[in-house]
Amino acid sequence: MLRLALHWQILIGMLVGSIIGISLNATCSSKTVQLTAEDGLPTGVSTAEVIDSSSSTIIRYTDKDGTTTERTVDPVSQAEGVFASIDTLETADPVAVRIYLTHGKSTAKRIGDWFARLGGLFLRMLQMVAVPLIVTSLTTGVIGLGSSEGIGRMFRRTVLYYLATSMLAIGTGLLAVNLVRPGLRVGQVENVNVPSTESESLVDVLFHQLEAMIPANPLGAFVSPNYLSIIAFTIAFALFSISVGGRTKEFVGDLATAGFEVMMAMTMAIIRLAPIGVFFLIAAVTATQGVGVFGSLAWYVVAVSLALGCHACVTLPLILRFVAKRSPLEFAKQMSPALLTAFSSASSNGTLPLTMSSVEERAGISNRTGSFVLPLGATINMDGTALYEAVAVLFIAQLHFGFNLPFSQQIIVALTALLASVGAAGIPHAGLVMMSIILHAVGLPIEMQGVILAVDRVLDMARTAVNVWSDSCGCAVIETLEARDAINASYREQQLNS
Ligand code: ASP
Repeated sequence: MLRLALHWQILIGMLVGSIIGISLNATCSSKTVQLTAEDGLPTGVSTAEVIDSSSSTIIRYTDKDGTTTERTVDPVSQAEGVFASIDTLETADPVAVRIYLTHGKSTAKRIGDWFARLGGLFLRMLQMVAVPLIVTSLTTGVIGLGSSEGIGRMFRRTVLYYLATSMLAIGTGLLAVNLVRPGLRVGQVENVNVPSTESESLVDVLFHQLEAMIPANPLGAFVSPNYLSIIAFTIAFALFSISVGGRTKEFVGDLATAGFEVMMAMTMAIIRLAPIGVFFLIAAVTATQGVGVFGSLAWYVVAVSLALGCHACVTLPLILRFVAKRSPLEFAKQMSPALLTAFSSASSNGTLPLTMSSVEERAGISNRTGSFVLPLGATINMDGTALYEAVAVLFIAQLHFGFNLPFSQQIIVALTALLASVGAAGIPHAGLVMMSIILHAVGLPIEMQGVILAVDRVLDMARTAVNVWSDSCGCAVIETLEARDAINASYREQQLNS
């Protein structure tokens, strides 16, 4: 029987999921209901809001003296559909209220919710294996490196790669937003108010990251889970097993290897479910969001996509070709289960087990490199997020000020975007949360973030895939550099012996 390769299966799952989700969303249509005094509307209304639209529609009116009355309004409750928005028409006499209802939306939303729940089961499986996989894999990897000198070299290379690619990504983002100038092309963009939260200063955020690396309660870190704490503690544990040496080191190494083999087998079994999981996740997003959200923010979406595309399809493949000496197309195919899952789930942490198994089982990169570079990368290396932060903040600035930020301010955006991407967690919408720090740094109102909320989910999916792609390319680069060192060392040894 013909059996399609896994990446084709996942791709088909995504395609069918999007078609079903978009068709479901398209079944919704808007309807406007206008209420007047005949519908039981009190006269002298100054404001009106819908306070319950689940079964019957209850509207709270406030009259000119500030007195509030609540009424269940029949025409609305009889109408099929869910509440979308409300307008008070001040000019009409008696004052009328216009209510927008969206037909069929409730059914689409219900089905969308079920898709999200079913897709959530797949994500739960990935979450289930994540912590034990990181711990066993990292321990095996570090003990395999053999000495703290080997680890130090790998660490320096990894951090250098993270910094270099993140800066390249931000540069690409700035170039795109300066060329496309999305904020200066937009007519009217609706501002959705986000609840204003106290934003932390950049120093606080970075200091929290430092604190996370020294978990006061390591067991607590495993339970929450805090990935940075887990990584730091596991590396320390493995390093000290090496320094204790002898049977202890052997025992820890054997235990970790056995655990790693079991966790890898579990992950491989979960991967087989990826096409179904991805189908549900994509269908849920497209059913609830549709494609209409792109309308007013089209140029902004174009700028982000252009820059992400350029970084993923030009910059990283060039590094892959010339530094890692690998075929970018071949490597992308090997990494496709992880990339497509990252796209559908918008979570690099959630995708981590798939990234690790694809790197090792499909791309043939050693556990020694993969187990070190990937968990660290999923937490702190986010090229896609850094790029997106830069584009989004400049877009908001163009909208707010009506002109492009000067170069000096753009440098501040670039630096804060880099640090914000290091601080962002590998979970959906983490980049949006971190953005308030950059907005604060260049004196923009935090509420302006509301403008881009509508399209954040789909851009989150794209930037997460880029984050995972950059981590994977980093693995290939470090693997090649380490292998070159090993060859040089053995050559030197041969020379000495002869
Ligand atoms: N969702 C992204 C990730 O998991 C983070 C972000 O929101 O940019 O990598």
